[in-house]
Amino acid sequence: MKLKSLIKRIESKYPLNLAYDWDNVGLLVGDFDNEIKKILVTLEANESVINEAIENNIDLIVTHHPFIFSKINKINTGDLKGRLIHKLIKHDIALYSMHTNFDIAFDGLNDYFMEVIGFENTKILEVTNSEILYKLAVYVPTTHADVLRKALGDVGCGNIGNYSHCSFNSEGLGTFKPLEGSNPFIGNINDIEHVNEIKIETIVPQRILGGVLSTMQKVHPYEEVAYDLYKLENKGNSVGLGRVSKLNHSTTLVELSNKIKEKLNMKHIRIVGDLDTKVSKVAVVTGSGADMVKKAQRQGADVIITGDVKYHDAQDALDMGMSIVDCGHFETEDIFKDAMKRFLDGIEDVQTIKSSVNLNPFKIV
Ligand SMILES: [Zn+2]
Repeated sequence: MKLKSLIKRIESKYPLNLAYDWDNVGLLVGDFDNEIKKILVTLEANESVINEAIENNIDLIVTHHPFIFSKINKINTGDLKGRLIHKLIKHDIALYSMHTNFDIAFDGLNDYFMEVIGFENTKILEVTNSEILYKLAVYVPTTHADVLRKALGDVGCGNIGNYSHCSFNSEGLGTFKPLEGSNPFIGNINDIEHVNEIKIETIVPQRILGGVLSTMQKVHPYEEVAYDLYKLENKGNSVGLGRVSKLNHSTTLVELSNKIKEKLNMKHIRIVGDLDTKVSKVAVVTGSGADMVKKAQRQGADVIITGDVKYHDAQDALDMGMSIVDCGHFETEDIFKDAMKRFLDGIEDVQTIKSSVNLNPFKIV
């Protein structure tokens, strides 16, 4: 599969525009026209990971942490980052990063974390974007309305709550005159034609708009398709950072922490708060989420599960009556490999492997 086609598939699920402005996501190194057969997924790419990719004939490395983040003035082998970029290009290995867009997106890292631990009834902790919606109105001969309506629904038009293929249909009379040089499906050159048509109106989320219009052109019988497309004021599904979950059964802070330790295969976990505190609602922010303690409390959470908690964050949380389970930045995010591999395994013609390089910089003795 060509890299540009693969990226299209990835970004239809995890759009780049969900990322924060300060972030750096997308194809950071590589040729869009390269053929991709083998992919390596990793939390981040250091020299060991790049060597692993070379040994395994990898065409594309997909990382969570952006491989290039701060400004680069030179790319040469005298500097660590320059040497790594040079090595990637020399071995024709592309590198794609998906960071806060993957944290925020539905079925991204935070949702995957909730799934791994077994938290249900998940809601967004902080909404960052709401989906932009368009209304598509397309005019089609009555005889072809069913086929077009189904095709539009099959590619994702008209999804409202738990309903798919939603549309409104009105009958009317369409007119047109084929001019010299046209190749009309119905009617003759220079004769005004009258055709019974249906106007199909349906909702299209912005992220699938391109695919919807090409499907419409493909399925519609007319040489020139008449349609209206307009942006709506009403917004679609919301996405955002972090998740909250109301537990089906209340537990204690220590029981919750033991469960997380077991699910993430951890030997130790840091806890802020009274071990016997009752927990009935949890908040989760993968990576660094100590700045979300207040938001978590406002949403009614008793504890926030995250990484990178500093001494003063912990003191502030105690003063507020909030508990924290600090799993560590690495431990909450290394599951990126599993989440991304599951997604990429659903794409035909590419093979995905997980990096076996241990990227945890900390050791506990
Ligand atoms: Zn991170």
